[in-house]
Amino acid sequence: MKILAVNAGSSSLKFQLFTMPEETTIVSGIVERIGYDNAAVIFKINGQKFVEDHQILNHKVAVDMVIHGLLERKVIESLDEIKGVGHRVVQGGELFKESAIIDDDVVAKIASLNDLAPLHNPANITGIEAFRKALPDVIQVAVFDTTFHQTMSEDAYLYACPYEWYQKYGVRKYGFHGTSHQYVSQRAAEILGKKDAKVIVAHLGNGASICAVKDGKSVDTSMGLTPLEGIPMGTRSGNIDPAVLMLVSSKEDKTYGEVLDELNKKSGYLGLSGFSNDSRDIIDGMNRGEHRAWLAHQVQVKRIADYIGSYYVYMGGLDAICFTAGIGENAPEVRRDVIKAVKVLGIELDEEENNKRGERMISTKDSKVKAFIIPTNEEVMISREVQRLMNK
Ligand code: ADP
Repeated sequence: MKILAVNAGSSSLKFQLFTMPEETTIVSGIVERIGYDNAAVIFKINGQKFVEDHQILNHKVAVDMVIHGLLERKVIESLDEIKGVGHRVVQGGELFKESAIIDDDVVAKIASLNDLAPLHNPANITGIEAFRKALPDVIQVAVFDTTFHQTMSEDAYLYACPYEWYQKYGVRKYGFHGTSHQYVSQRAAEILGKKDAKVIVAHLGNGASICAVKDGKSVDTSMGLTPLEGIPMGTRSGNIDPAVLMLVSSKEDKTYGEVLDELNKKSGYLGLSGFSNDSRDIIDGMNRGEHRAWLAHQVQVKRIADYIGSYYVYMGGLDAICFTAGIGENAPEVRRDVIKAVKVLGIELDEEENNKRGERMISTKDSKVKAFIIPTNEEVMISREVQRLMNK
């Protein structure tokens, strides 16, 4: 059975076609710069990359291009072969405690959450609508970044602000990267051979979040109402005192919205280093002895360690820390310094393993708490969800 996993952003559309339940990838790709003159459709088939330049006006055209490409490249003989489509949706609020088979009602509910994710949910809906038109008879499933965290208890998800803000506007922590945290923590529990494992996942990409998982359930996570909360990221500040908004807006004659934008797009690695949001540049800079590059790295390491310590206490112990996503999977320096910072928990780095890539244990065998690299796979998780709902 073939299932397509889709991740629609405001100007891009990523896709991956799987044979399920084997979970083998038949094709993956991306439509980039939708709405711009220099749009491109990229297909990756059997390790080969095909790039087509087109003018792509909107997501509907992008979806038609993808489907046409699958047929033309003989990836599929006919559209009937695609039995389900899974869509990544960023914000499911409290409305979606699990993935949902998409109908008009589900689309309306996702749209009702636009206020909570103004940059993401409208783009996700555009992708959903385009695929519903192109493949009207195929089951489509929404898989939310937030559902995995719906198991957090009130003491973990509430902010200590007026309770009415929560009641009236849904002001609370939702958390994101849920499919990744779920995938990685499930894999960690398998490796550990322990269903009730206590695991911390450090999803460190351009966006980054930490999640505490106990008995397969998210009990706390670092991102909040929006992805701005938590640890410093490529361009996001992570936690700051909200009073900064008022000070900077008055000093620089900017609106709160403009300052917030700088906390989202000009902070984190970029803000502290002053030159890059990319971990590779930060590490190069650090190796050249540049103090601000070191600061960008070190402030993030400290904050990650703060979360790990806090979650260790909250869960009453810890079996493993897992590193995933672009930085977590590829930057040994970040893993090394995080592990050194939490050494007191009984975790010892295996330097040699840490310098390798791919799924592996990077702590020594006698470490009380283990550490792993576990490459994430959000697309497989989405396809599993489609399959699960189809069989329900
Ligand atoms: P997102 O999906 O949030 O855009 P990714 O998970 O792709 O982000 O991660 C992007 C980050 O991963 C960048 O900071 C990039 O420098 C880092 N990264 C990717 N590949 C490597 C690598 N080979 N070595 C070090 N860092 C890497």
